[in-house]
Amino acid sequence: MINQINKTISAVVEIARGMATIMKHFFREPITLEYPEKKPELGERYRGRLALLTNPDGSDICLGCMTCQKVCPCVDLIQIEKEGKEVKEFTIDIGRCIFCGNCTEACPKGALVMTKEFELADYSRNTLVYDKKALTLSPEESEKWKSRT
Ligand code: SF4
Ligand code: SF4
Repeated sequence: MINQINKTISAVVEIARGMATIMKHFFREPITLEYPEKKPELGERYRGRLALLTNPDGSDICLGCMTCQKVCPCVDLIQIEKEGKEVKEFTIDIGRCIFCGNCTEACPKGALVMTKEFELADYSRNTLVYDKKALTLSPEESEKWKSRT
């Protein structure tokens, strides 16, 4: 009989402990986010999708100096084609990018930036190879990025 009473008391204590834990968390701010309905607030220095900035007249800032390509730890991830002084093509295989930021830091002209765009999932690896057109921001967008750096 005493054994039964002890068991019952112990069960009630455990249930009370469990309920106390539930109640403690019930009133706390949730640390998870209902993504994608709610988006996270990203830090100022968040490293997202790479982009090329342009001058106010829409011309390239990039000189095609290849510094970004040389400092990139992933071989052949950045491809640059030049014709004379003009940068004809500039591609980044974002599917292989590790978002280290070396390229943006090394660029002598500040032509490359890491935006806050992080929703980059796609169905094919090929579509993750962004060409110059896909990478280039409009002069208006470029000005916003320049004012942040
Ligand atoms: S962020 Fe790093 S891995 Fe990605 S392109 Fe730049 S240097 Fe290469
Ligand atoms: S380092 Fe800058 S200027 Fe040189 S090729 Fe890369 S993006 Fe262009």
